[in-house]
Amino acid sequence: MGFCVSVGRILRKGKCFVLVLLCLSVLAWIANFSGEIAKSIQVSFNMTQIPVKADTLRDHLTKHASTPPLKVKCPQTSPLLKGAVKLSFEPSLTLKDVENDNKGVTEGKYAPTDCTARQSVAILIPHRNREKHLLYLLHHLHPFLQRQQIHYGIYVIQQAGDTTFNRAKLLNVGYLEALKEYSWECFILHDVDLVPENDHNLYVCDKQPKHLVVGRNVTGYKLRYKGYFGGVTAMTQKQFDKVNGFSNSYWGWGGEDDDLRIRVQLQKMTIVRPPADIARYTMVFHKRDSGNEANKDRMQLLRQTQQVWRKDGLNSCSYKTLSIERLPLYVNVTVDIGKP
Ligand code: UDP
Ligand code: MN
Repeated sequence: MGFCVSVGRILRKGKCFVLVLLCLSVLAWIANFSGEIAKSIQVSFNMTQIPVKADTLRDHLTKHASTPPLKVKCPQTSPLLKGAVKLSFEPSLTLKDVENDNKGVTEGKYAPTDCTARQSVAILIPHRNREKHLLYLLHHLHPFLQRQQIHYGIYVIQQAGDTTFNRAKLLNVGYLEALKEYSWECFILHDVDLVPENDHNLYVCDKQPKHLVVGRNVTGYKLRYKGYFGGVTAMTQKQFDKVNGFSNSYWGWGGEDDDLRIRVQLQKMTIVRPPADIARYTMVFHKRDSGNEANKDRMQLLRQTQQVWRKDGLNSCSYKTLSIERLPLYVNVTVDIGKP
């Protein structure tokens, strides 16, 4: 009764007419808002009732998923190739310099960033006591392989101790150890002192085992002898496996590369070589190392290859890994391969 009187009085006074209007509009807005809520509840309820078509969902996901763009296969011929390059052998070059020049390399590995490499290649370098040669090779080989747009990894296999050197067995060890890290499809068996002069000499594998050193500066860029299969050789995992790798029995200098050629020929594979004007190398000068004297038994061993290759090779390669260091520019495998 009192309230009606007060309202009547206010209305009569006409002062707070605006206030009343305001109250009414607030009420109207509340009513409308609750209606909207009710409607949206109904919509979401109905949404769960309507079966969503699979292709609509797929369309939605494709439109909104943030999938990275697919990398294309690298071209057959890399646009980065330079052809014949002038090699430098600066006495002042350091490992740090080479590391600084190859920031894209981690633990000796690299893959092109803007395309998918055509092959994954492990470079195996047998080594002992040739640090300067290794430095020059790394200096040239990293940019060379990057220009070829190859996915690669470099492995240096160090023979521990000072017993007679065994290049072939070290390369067998390199093959077995590299495969523990990654399923490389192609292997380049690489002397430490041979530097490729032309980047059209591709470090990839072919359908047949490939010999890459057609010419060297020290032999007037002529093939060392007919059938020479040493220095730098490219074989697929399958090809190397098929011949049971190298023989482990060649201690000292010579014969092991001829033995590998015989194994390849016994499997009816043929050796291919790039053109002579491309497959050119500079050999860093050196004398015969101590601990790697010519192997006097090599001719005798070469006569037995056909009889022994099945049981002398990858399947009989026993060794003790002393350390594996993952350095910036290469994986360093130090190994005890025993003695003759
Ligand atoms: N090698 C090495 N230390 C040695 C002997 C040989 O690192 O004490 C390695 C090195 O990779 C070298 C390869 O074995 O390039 C072949 O040996 P060498 O250079 O004496 O053979 P050649 O020059 O006759 O091909
Ligand atoms: Mn040499």
